[in-house]
Amino acid sequence: MKYCCYCSAELIYEIPDDDNRYRYICQSCEIIHYQNPKIVAGSIPVWEDQILLCKRAIEPRYGYWTLPAGFMELGETSLEAAIRETLEEANAKIEVEDLYAIFNLPYVDQVYMMFKSRLVDLDFSPGEETQEVKLFDEGDIPWNEIAFTTVKQTLKFYFEDRNNGNFHQHTGDIIKKDGKYDFVETLL
Ligand SMILES: [Zn+2]
Repeated sequence: MKYCCYCSAELIYEIPDDDNRYRYICQSCEIIHYQNPKIVAGSIPVWEDQILLCKRAIEPRYGYWTLPAGFMELGETSLEAAIRETLEEANAKIEVEDLYAIFNLPYVDQVYMMFKSRLVDLDFSPGEETQEVKLFDEGDIPWNEIAFTTVKQTLKFYFEDRNNGNFHQHTGDIIKKDGKYDFVETLL
């Protein structure tokens, strides 16, 4: 960030008097431009024993499989965002059952909120950002072609919980270290 979006003056990067973190501060209108994590909302669309996945038609992770998810828009709730992303990426209608998983990704300043959902019907098809939409049995999940650690971890939890007959909410952090991603469940 270089210029103020309100008055176009140049910004300085320093710790404000009553603060303990570096912020972008406008030298002219004195507004402090706070930056905070972004929320990604997504769904786990379930039909009987199968899970719906989308094959990505965009970078990053082109050609890899993902659960429908994306950044929340302004004025939207997390639930609405999950439903909208599922509609946009898979043209699929869902009924949301529960908030199932929350992941913090401090290395990219994102928080993921994944909702366990029921597919309303089998009327789905690839959206603009998707090459293919398909229902998978547990045994057919393409584990080596899953786009993101968050998606892999959500699916892992889902099948573990289903096999144990004990669905419950999961909260954890994904930590990037030496180019690798580690998952740490923080609330058990
Ligand atoms: Zn300004």
